[in-house]
Amino acid sequence: MKKQIFRLFKPLAVLLCLILCSCSMQSGGQVNQSAQNSVRITVLDVGMADSIFIELTDSRCMLIDAGESEAAETVVDYISSHGYDKIDYLVGTHPHSDHIGGMREVINSLEIGEIFMPRVEHDTYTYEKTLELIDEKGLEITTAKSGVDIIDEVELSAEIIAPCSDSYSELNNYSAVIKLSFGNTSFLFMGDAETESENEITADVSADFIKVGHHGSETSSSSEFVNRVGAQYAAVSVAEDNEYNLPSQSVISRWEESGAEVLMTKDVGNIVAESDGSTLSVGGESSGAGESSGTDKGTALNTDGESSASGTGSEGSGIGVGSDSGTDENSGEEAGEATNTNGAEPGADSAEASISEYSWILNTNSKRIHRPDCSQAKNIAEKNRAYSSESLDKLISQGYKPCGSCMPEEGEQ
Ligand SMILES: [Zn+2]
Ligand SMILES: [Zn+2]
Repeated sequence: MKKQIFRLFKPLAVLLCLILCSCSMQSGGQVNQSAQNSVRITVLDVGMADSIFIELTDSRCMLIDAGESEAAETVVDYISSHGYDKIDYLVGTHPHSDHIGGMREVINSLEIGEIFMPRVEHDTYTYEKTLELIDEKGLEITTAKSGVDIIDEVELSAEIIAPCSDSYSELNNYSAVIKLSFGNTSFLFMGDAETESENEITADVSADFIKVGHHGSETSSSSEFVNRVGAQYAAVSVAEDNEYNLPSQSVISRWEESGAEVLMTKDVGNIVAESDGSTLSVGGESSGAGESSGTDKGTALNTDGESSASGTGSEGSGIGVGSDSGTDENSGEEAGEATNTNGAEPGADSAEASISEYSWILNTNSKRIHRPDCSQAKNIAEKNRAYSSESLDKLISQGYKPCGSCMPEEGEQ
């Protein structure tokens, strides 16, 4: 019975999907639809890892790191659902798997312009396979080191300001550190650079927004460095209840005492910063944020200039939270409708459906099965998101694979 409904709905779902896709194309005409003349940064919530997607002027974009391999679908989905099929500038800050683990899938899924990575030997499967793939694709790596310009234009620049040395005992210090400037606003992306590297940087590190180094670890963000940066917003990419006990509370206090509002992915999901060249608005994209169109979020973001304390404030200042696109049709829907639980209707359900209504969140595009509380599931594009209460076996027989992050016993590791 359920199956028949499934079959009936499938063509409908495809049609719906096509309509939605064409709409979102029209609404932008081009990517970065919030404006051709704005820069939008998303520190993706990829758990205990880094991935930062940057929408630039002239429909260009940059990706700094791609999270662990389990997060690759989240990253690729986010980028595609914002209308990009090419990454103009791809940066792998350093070879740790929480930064380049998802890189291969990114390179396989999207067209790649230039690649920047530090020159360093690192003997791991992930790193070696990544280098091999880059080679196979005929792409060339530009060595990431201080003084290298990724973009050097009047209004927009992206400069690599570290590493400043050729060798370090700590791999994290090879991290490509990037300073992005757009008009009067500036951004700093630290990778996992530690204090040894911070101390070497001679470039101007002052910035309005910083992606804090090394997931808020005590190894980084020395008092001196924090004060040099003088950020208004400090974004920390970190998972809840992680084995490393990150972030360090003293590091968080240090940033707060310097005057920065601290936002953490574990609290607010994706962290989004948008600049028109003079004003910067920053907020958390709460979990389950609908990704069907960047337009809604762009506008909402602009209204959220206030900077209340992180955590609670970010809810209110959240961006769209999937309500613009989905809720109207869904809010009245009864829980546990057959159509929802079949997982057959992409985007049919709103993100607000309560966890008890279904057992799994599906990514109908990448064919992954997630537990409802999986942090990776938050970022699935709305059009690719479905909910299901089918048995695991059944879903697997339909071609789905368990997420390696929330169901590790079934996944790769
Ligand atoms: Zn890291
Ligand atoms: Zn690292």
